[in-house]
Amino acid sequence: MVITPKIACNTCDTKHLLKVTVGREDKQNHIFPCTECEEEIEFGLESLFSRGQYRYIRNCRADNFDYSEAIQVHLNPDFGTSHKIVQAGDIFTAVMSNCLEMQRMDALLRKEQNEGIIEHRANYENYNSEAMRFYLKICSLLSKNKNELANSYIEKNKTNFDEKTGETYNYYFEKLLNHLLGSYGLELLNAITEEKNKAGDISTLIDFNTTQSIDNLESIEEFIGLFSEFSQVFTYLNKGIEISDSVKPTSTDFNRTKKYYSSAYETLAKMLFIPAGLNNAIERGDPHRFEKIDSLGKFISNGNGDKLRCIKDNINLNKISSCYDNHLRNASFHSHMKYNPKKAKISFNQNNGTPISITYKEYLVMCIKVTEAIAALNLFSLKHLQPVQIKPDQI
Ligand SMILES: [Zn+2]
Repeated sequence: MVITPKIACNTCDTKHLLKVTVGREDKQNHIFPCTECEEEIEFGLESLFSRGQYRYIRNCRADNFDYSEAIQVHLNPDFGTSHKIVQAGDIFTAVMSNCLEMQRMDALLRKEQNEGIIEHRANYENYNSEAMRFYLKICSLLSKNKNELANSYIEKNKTNFDEKTGETYNYYFEKLLNHLLGSYGLELLNAITEEKNKAGDISTLIDFNTTQSIDNLESIEEFIGLFSEFSQVFTYLNKGIEISDSVKPTSTDFNRTKKYYSSAYETLAKMLFIPAGLNNAIERGDPHRFEKIDSLGKFISNGNGDKLRCIKDNINLNKISSCYDNHLRNASFHSHMKYNPKKAKISFNQNNGTPISITYKEYLVMCIKVTEAIAALNLFSLKHLQPVQIKPDQI
């Protein structure tokens, strides 16, 4: 379904007919440049599944004019149709571009060779972000010891999610992590597990892991909080569908997401002792023994920029490096990135001064991949790095 709010730019009064696709979420938020003066407009929709309300958040107001009078801006929360601009009076393009993109995604899914991601998705469907929000809420309540409230929240949502009450924090957290995991995260998890099987005795890595607090609930809360910015690109990555050049995110609120990469990067950095320890176990038979240093404790206090150097020769473990970019982290952390809303391009200098330019979409891909890597390492830790529980009757 496509709805058609009419707005005017508060800066230059240009009229815009918005054609907004109703997507999977009850709420939408879109940032896009005015087609005339290029000042950013922020428009939102709420309670879409009931009465539907428009929110004229920034640089826009409600206006009234004929359907054929104003230039159209197409907005779509789920597919990468971009904030497509179409001439006044065009009645076909909005619906057409939605249909074509859905057809294209469908064809790609059917062609999908990677059976793993399809099987994973069947168990952890993300038709919208509700499942992630559901498990996030349970984990957040349990982390604050509000167990009763968590149980009643699960009961209250019984019709949507057939979930058990009274399980451990890790039980629900593992489900949350699995929902976050897309094709990249799954590939990482499989690759790391494959290396673990070559590693022999990793009991000292398990011991070390118990001394580290590997819980990334806060990072995931931050990610879900920004989800309206990630949702389009997430749809593709999560299903393992290639993102073509024509795919562009509808909302481009770089101000909201610009710090996210650096904070997720720091979270991931804290867990890199896991691939490093596995590599040490494979290469030297001892998780703590690096080429030059002799403990994982020393490794974690080293600078984050160098943390992947020790695993660069292991193809499987080094897959994580494609989402771990120290230049991007520094630019994101220090807000050294310049954003051009019209072109949706981000430019920054690498640590050595080399100028770099990436699209907003490419930036979002990095944000989502680093989040998937966090989920993958966390899942690995839950599955393979927990101390063996001795049952009372075995003592
Ligand atoms: Zn304007």
